[in-house]
Amino acid sequence: MSSVTDNISFTCSRCGTVYEAQVYRLIDAASKPELRQKVTDGSLFLRECPSCGQRELIGGPVVYKDEHLLVCLSDRPLAVEGLDGLKGRLVGDVGSLIEKVKIFDSGLDDVPMELCKFVTRQEIGKDVNLKFLRLEGADHDIIFTYPESGAMQMLSVGFNVYEDCRGIVSRNPSMSAEGFARVDREWVEQFIR
Ligand SMILES: [Zn+2]
Repeated sequence: MSSVTDNISFTCSRCGTVYEAQVYRLIDAASKPELRQKVTDGSLFLRECPSCGQRELIGGPVVYKDEHLLVCLSDRPLAVEGLDGLKGRLVGDVGSLIEKVKIFDSGLDDVPMELCKFVTRQEIGKDVNLKFLRLEGADHDIIFTYPESGAMQMLSVGFNVYEDCRGIVSRNPSMSAEGFARVDREWVEQFIR
């Protein structure tokens, strides 16, 4: 497989210029570190107006694939045949797609990560939208970001919290995400009653 792109016409929301930009439909990032970098830093999902420089987000639908993952960003289920051992995930927005890639690139799994986010929300007593950013330092602290008061906040959580969540997941076979799964906050909360 190789990447598939389209040229799409956009209208700049600031100055009204109509311009064409390249949009990815299939991102095949397996053994393409520079393409993967553009996914994780978000630049692949930005278009820029040639007249005024206004940058805007490109949404879906798009399919991302690498050696671990097949992620579909789409508002309806896609028919994809066979995952060939890849993790299949459905996401509803670009930020969630980027987060999935970062989680698996860090050698982690999104099921215990969603549980870890649930535990962290309880711990800090805030109902916020946590996103995994990276592992940091020799102890592999987990760095989350979340929006609050119009700014992006960062939060560091000990790796032991993730390990505890991984233990819980391994003792609860019902918490497995088979086929194309939407593994998000709602998904993990159905197991916590
Ligand atoms: Zn413009």
